Amino acid sequence: MMTENSHTPSPAERLKACSGVDVQLCYQCGKCTAGCAMAPEMDLPPSFLVRLLQTGSPAAYRRVLESRSIWLCVGCEQCIGRCPKEVDIPRLIDCLRSEAQKEGCVSPEASDIIKFHKSFLGSVKRNGRLGELDLVVEYKLRTLHLFQDVDVAPGMLAKGKLPLIPERIKGKREIDEIFKKSNA
Ligand code: SF4
Ligand code: SF4
Repeated sequence: MMTENSHTPSPAERLKACSGVDVQLCYQCGKCTAGCAMAPEMDLPPSFLVRLLQTGSPAAYRRVLESRSIWLCVGCEQCIGRCPKEVDIPRLIDCLRSEAQKEGCVSPEASDIIKFHKSFLGSVKRNGRLGELDLVVEYKLRTLHLFQDVDVAPGMLAKGKLPLIPERIKGKREIDEIFKKSNA
């Protein structure tokens, strides 16, 4: 029940609670964007994404959630390594991805990236570790990109880079517990 003192957290407060990152620390030096290998592909380069979050405006927050950038980040941590204020952009992006899915405003251009993430996790869930061929098969079934990159498969098979039977780890039960706890 709502009381006089109840407070609905703003998007900025929710993001801070999820990530522990204070975006107000950023002073827009641009080092994160200069070092990010994915920035040229992004619609919102990392420093601009942080700037939008700093404004606290719901429209700016929505623009970030709908961006392609949050799905293109590869989590390499180059940005935080260069940031004089240690603004943890990859951590922010993890929370933004989850929020974009909850709010149903994922960029349509992220569809294949999300299918790749699900296929990766599916393989780890089945085997306790990644099975490369297992991942490729699930990804192709999810996306129906059945013939994409087929020309590289024979070379990879010949070099043993695509084992036909995925290896299973011994501690599979512990991995199952992790998936159970995270509801993945
Ligand atoms: S490097 Fe850090 S302080 Fe500089 S713009 Fe990026 S997030 Fe802001
Ligand atoms: S973690 Fe993401 S935003 Fe940071 S440098 Fe790497 S790709 Fe760019």
